[in-house]
Amino acid sequence: MTVDTPITVQGLYFDGHSSRSREAELTLHGQVLSVQCEGIHFELPVRSVHIEAGIGAMRRVFKFPGGQRFESDDHTAVTQLEQAIGRNRGLNFVNTLEARWPLVVGCLLGLLLASVAFWQWGLPLAARAAASVTPRAMLAALDSQTLALLDRQLLEPSQLPAITRQRLSAAFSPLAREIDADTRYQLVFRSGEALGANAFALPNGTIVLTDDLVRLARNDREIIGVLAHEVGHVIERHGARSIYQSAGLLLFVSVLTGDVAAASTVAGALSLSLVQNGYSRGMEREADDVAARYLRRKYGTTAPLRDMLSRLERAHQDVKVPDLLSTHPGVDERLRRLEDADRQPQNARP
Ligand SMILES: [Zn+2]
Repeated sequence: MTVDTPITVQGLYFDGHSSRSREAELTLHGQVLSVQCEGIHFELPVRSVHIEAGIGAMRRVFKFPGGQRFESDDHTAVTQLEQAIGRNRGLNFVNTLEARWPLVVGCLLGLLLASVAFWQWGLPLAARAAASVTPRAMLAALDSQTLALLDRQLLEPSQLPAITRQRLSAAFSPLAREIDADTRYQLVFRSGEALGANAFALPNGTIVLTDDLVRLARNDREIIGVLAHEVGHVIERHGARSIYQSAGLLLFVSVLTGDVAAASTVAGALSLSLVQNGYSRGMEREADDVAARYLRRKYGTTAPLRDMLSRLERAHQDVKVPDLLSTHPGVDERLRRLEDADRQPQNARP
């Protein structure tokens, strides 16, 4: 849009050679801009002048093709001039927003809520979908890489007598077959002070049992209870889901910070951190539910797992133990849930 009334902007002129500034006046007549200051007067087509978009209260800058510049604090006049020549409309929207800070705060809050909602519900749903279609070969690779990493960093060969390991493996086989015939489970025995009495499942069905846990158990049923819980993690694909959820967060953070390399470099250590940090509250419940159904079918009670959890808690006290004793949900909450399962009529749950 062109206006016939000249628009005048007061400001400072810099000749582009020295840092000296002079009081100057810029005038727009139609599509021609004239610059007037002490000893200087020239005119040029306004389209050849670059007007930097306004940022907050910062001084507005006009750049001329010859390297000269004109700066002005008269935001109203500059905006009027821009409107007359149809310049910086979208960019100055930022300024409009700044002037309406409640709207900006509202937008930011909306964005924050959307992020929280995505993190809370969207990401787990996406992770679940991705985990369910992850090929077995990929999961198998994760298992072998993670176990190799754990063997280098945290675990030692098992000291248990071979006969004990054989007995437990023999007891585990029917459990795995009954709960999840589609997965080829592998029960491995390790010792490791850092992990104490513990057991954890890797995404493709490798279940690691520590010597301390075997020693802490009063009978094999308690170990079966723990193994049924771990099989629950495998059936529900908690390993892959957790990795996708963490990868999603990393991706999210790396997009926000522009640090894409971080996402790829940390990805390799994800399954290890899973072992160290345990699963989410919801995942622990799901695994306990799988164990409860199996234990009730097999022994008519969830007592073996409850007894083991209680003893693990006493044995570890202040030590943070992942998975079996992850801080959330607390052991008390899990025991209550298992007791509730015992009160349900048999086969009430599918
Ligand atoms: Zn668990």
